[in-house]
Amino acid sequence: MDCQPVQTLDRVGPRVQERLARLGIHTVGDLLFHLPVRYQDRTRVVPLAEVRPGAEVQVEGQVSDAQISYGRRRSLKVWLTDAADPADAEDRLSGGGLLLRFFHFSPQQLAALRPGAHLRCYGEVRQGPNSLEIIHPEYRLCEAPAAPEPAPRLTPIYPSTEGMQQSAWRGLTDQALALLEQLAPAEYLPAESLAGMPFPDLRAALRYLHRPPLEAHLEDLLERRHPAFLRLAFEELVAHQVSLRRLRQSHARVTAPALPGDGGLRRGLREVLPFRLTPDQEQVVGEIAADLTRAVPMQRLLQGDVGSGKTVVAAFAVLQAIESGYQAALMAPTELLSEQHWKGLRTWLQPLGLEPVWLAGRHKGRERAGLLAAIAEGRAPLVVGTHALIQDDVRFGRLGLIIIDEQHRFGVHQRMRLRDKGAGGGGAPHQLIMTATPIPRSLAMTVYADLDLSVIARPPPGRTPIATAVVPDTRRDAVIARIHEACGAGRQAYWVCTLIDESEALQAQAAEETALALTAALPGVRVGLVHGRQRAAERETVMAAFAAGALDLLVATTVIEVGVDVPNASLMIIENPERLGLSQLHQLRGRVGRGAVASHCVLLYRAPLSAAARDRLGLIRETQDGFRIAEEDLRMRGAGEVLGTRQTGTIEFRVADPLRDQHLTAAAQRTADLILARYAHVVEPLMHRWLGQREEYGQI
Ligand code: ADP
Ligand code: MG
Repeated sequence: MDCQPVQTLDRVGPRVQERLARLGIHTVGDLLFHLPVRYQDRTRVVPLAEVRPGAEVQVEGQVSDAQISYGRRRSLKVWLTDAADPADAEDRLSGGGLLLRFFHFSPQQLAALRPGAHLRCYGEVRQGPNSLEIIHPEYRLCEAPAAPEPAPRLTPIYPSTEGMQQSAWRGLTDQALALLEQLAPAEYLPAESLAGMPFPDLRAALRYLHRPPLEAHLEDLLERRHPAFLRLAFEELVAHQVSLRRLRQSHARVTAPALPGDGGLRRGLREVLPFRLTPDQEQVVGEIAADLTRAVPMQRLLQGDVGSGKTVVAAFAVLQAIESGYQAALMAPTELLSEQHWKGLRTWLQPLGLEPVWLAGRHKGRERAGLLAAIAEGRAPLVVGTHALIQDDVRFGRLGLIIIDEQHRFGVHQRMRLRDKGAGGGGAPHQLIMTATPIPRSLAMTVYADLDLSVIARPPPGRTPIATAVVPDTRRDAVIARIHEACGAGRQAYWVCTLIDESEALQAQAAEETALALTAALPGVRVGLVHGRQRAAERETVMAAFAAGALDLLVATTVIEVGVDVPNASLMIIENPERLGLSQLHQLRGRVGRGAVASHCVLLYRAPLSAAARDRLGLIRETQDGFRIAEEDLRMRGAGEVLGTRQTGTIEFRVADPLRDQHLTAAAQRTADLILARYAHVVEPLMHRWLGQREEYGQI
């Protein structure tokens, strides 16, 4: 049955076959694993008098009036009454009865929906201007008074594609379910993995999800917590783990240059550094050093909150590669950040006699050609840049190590492309990915299961906590007075203007206006401005002036999120913080609290604040624990949004949700290991069932 072609079902001709193929459905098995997204309760006809706004209901009644209305938009208005609600014209005006409203309608519909007709309708009720109404209800004409008993099951709603009605999906899945009763679907999970799990068997789970019984708990179903969903979510997680493990095994078959190094440069770095590594940093440096020593490409994810000190760890890895006679590349998500990395690393590497290269968009013509030549000939020991480094004209002579500072922006695809820039003759380079979005370990194991994980859990000592206040913008004057005070005392401040989802031009404009207003309001305070529309050189001059203490207040757009490190800056104002994600706020705030003085962050919101926004800002005020903040952010926005995988389309689950189903991760991993070790024959069909269309999985 898993392999039976869909066209063996009734009513599947070439056109339907083509539509199904669009969704990756080729077999009856594929169809059974095409699960409803939600369910409707059509088991009950709701009397019109009980209809409430916001509910999806099935109603039945007689058309009392129908008119075309020529308001702002032409529409067909059809009034429905039922026996219990003998609304007359007056009632109708006073709010009785139910209005069905159609913005698109055919002459045939107009003719059919005339007074006296009996209808059964389904749709979402909303409060119209004068009465309750349903816009574009599903409806059918029926015999008066009552239509036949509705089906005693919840009605499934399937994800669809153009040209496929829900009724067609129901017809097809009816047939598939009938076949399911004769022949069970193939069970790919080992019996010992399922033993003890609170799941129904596969056939029962599929039957239940396609046609939930009337007594099914609609909420459990919708939230996908029902055991039948969990059974399939588990299988999907296993399939995912199997594919990532295979990916990993294939990495392990590739060779990488072994980069043991002689430790000389790294000893030199320890002498140059103005601080000692924390135990967490030492641990991670050790993990990376061990990976680099092996002739297998390192695939390691380094998690550490903003300010936890990841850069110096990267520097140790870079030096180990250089000691071994190889080049390293470091990529950052923005040009500004790549520049800061370059400058920061230069202060550490120059004393060791090494000159890192910064490859930026501004390098053009002869200059660029010169840099490219140095990179290609292996003369540049460390190359820092943005993702421009993966552009095709950049060739490395002896690339041994790639470091990606992703700040949750790069996805797996870029990682792959970089790997292809392999070292001349030495196999694939080692890879270290650094992220400032700390995600729960079990989630990391699902999303990044092809990577090893290192964590810097505690920041370097000597940081004072940042006192955070949530303040309405009606108290703007008081906030400005605080800046005056701080700057008067020789400290520096940031003012961050946020216009999320707006163009960079609008953001720049808002920042410019704010800078002007603050300059006027704060005589004696030296105000600088940075935004994404400035030329890099201009921005750099301003940043340098701020870092050198020649400016007191820096007005900025969110470009500074990933940009700057000025320990004397101890006050940050964030305007409209309610528009930003929690992780982003946390990262922004991380720009202060880097020195010894107590720092403050003011979240200047525009009142009124929704209850949800109040909670979110409250969390930021309460905690500086990046893990907690990230977890909350994940819970609210979903893993795909926060981790940036949605854009790259690398990880999409059909049933499972790696966050919601975290409790299944460990078991899914054990099962994946078991399958790979002892049930290799199910690997292909299992991956086909769940990941069939996505060729980046499994095929290497
Ligand atoms: P992130 O993890 O956000 O990239 P950085 O690498 O930029 O953090 O480090 C933040 C700041 O902490 C930098 O100024 C860095 O020099 C400093 N730092 C890093 N490690 C230590 C340490 N062990 N002791 C003191 N300061 C440190
Ligand atoms: Mg960093």
